Amino acid sequence: MLPPSLPLQTAPDAPESIIPLLGKSAPELVEWVQQQGQPAYRGQQLHQWLYQQGGRSLSDLSVFPKQWRSEIAEVPVGRSDLHHRVATPDGTVKFLLRLTDRQIIETVGIPSEKRLTVCVSSQVGCPMACDFCATGKGGFVRNLEPHEIIDQVLTVQEDFRQRVSHVVFMGMGEPLLNPDNVLMAVRSLNQDVGIGQRMITISTVGIPGRIRRLADYQLQATLAVSLHASNQQVRQHLVPSARQYPLEALLAECREYVQATGRRISFEYVLLAGVNDRPSHALELAQHLRGFQSHVNLIPYNPISDADYQRPDGRRIQAFLAALKQQHIAASVRQTRGLSADAACGQLRASQFNGVPPLQAALKGVAPVNA
Ligand code: SAH
Repeated sequence: MLPPSLPLQTAPDAPESIIPLLGKSAPELVEWVQQQGQPAYRGQQLHQWLYQQGGRSLSDLSVFPKQWRSEIAEVPVGRSDLHHRVATPDGTVKFLLRLTDRQIIETVGIPSEKRLTVCVSSQVGCPMACDFCATGKGGFVRNLEPHEIIDQVLTVQEDFRQRVSHVVFMGMGEPLLNPDNVLMAVRSLNQDVGIGQRMITISTVGIPGRIRRLADYQLQATLAVSLHASNQQVRQHLVPSARQYPLEALLAECREYVQATGRRISFEYVLLAGVNDRPSHALELAQHLRGFQSHVNLIPYNPISDADYQRPDGRRIQAFLAALKQQHIAASVRQTRGLSADAACGQLRASQFNGVPPLQAALKGVAPVNA
């Protein structure tokens, strides 16, 4: 049986006129122009303008006939406004983007020798409330629409004047609480923007049943799972949602994913001094992952203002890495980027610019995690 193809943007219930153009595929754009009595090649021109030229307002599309352009001038393109931009000495740039409802989200551009990686947000805020993560402390507002995700990548590409090579869903939010829009964005980033699926990583803290569902799509993208602990007790302390989703159950679902897709999983593990960084934790982790097609990404904790954790010192980090390697577990330490602009992992918190509601109020609008 063929895997389901990635969903297209068109939401059947929404009136056509309010769905922004960004996120539509080339065939959808052709259909859209034809519905308005225009020839098919105008759809191709529109596609090129949206995804390669960074078009923002249809009234600027000068290759289109003037009369038609004025008729469609009000159709939303789906680009966000730049609210603020912060560059750090290591070249990382954090962007605060203002959405049409004035919510602010963050996205980060991370250049390295041959790459330009964008760390995208999938939600405004995040309901998961992980104890060491600034986004989680700020509460949750809403899911992002596909165009709001794609826009982040185009914004970074335009700012750096360089093609984006990699996209990681490691900004604000939990992608698997917004799977349909994330998958629509992945389709468009791949087919419209031209980013290889293998260069895209979706990171999740684990939502029951959703990793299994993701496997059905047979994505070439990498799945990253935020583990952060080698046993249930420590994990549920750090990740509150783990209380309803025991470590064993999460790992079993991950095993199914590897079996169904043949792709390895990347496990993320934030190293917190005195909490989960002992050599015995490394051994315990290795026992779980023995024979598992996986790679462990160790992330030294990035300090946030309202948590008491400490980053372990370099020796301790290297000792943890060595202990995993001795057990033949593939692992590496993620280099910290963007620290001085609060743009590193877990430091994104646009809520201080938003005045978002407190967490409990926000959670009322969220489907239960075991839905
Ligand atoms: N909700 C998703 C994606 C966003 S977080 C997830 O949990 O995977 C991206 C990564 O940054 C996760 O592994 C997260 O646990 C990690 N992270 C969060 N806060 C951090 C901090 N203060 N220091 C280092 N990494 C952090």
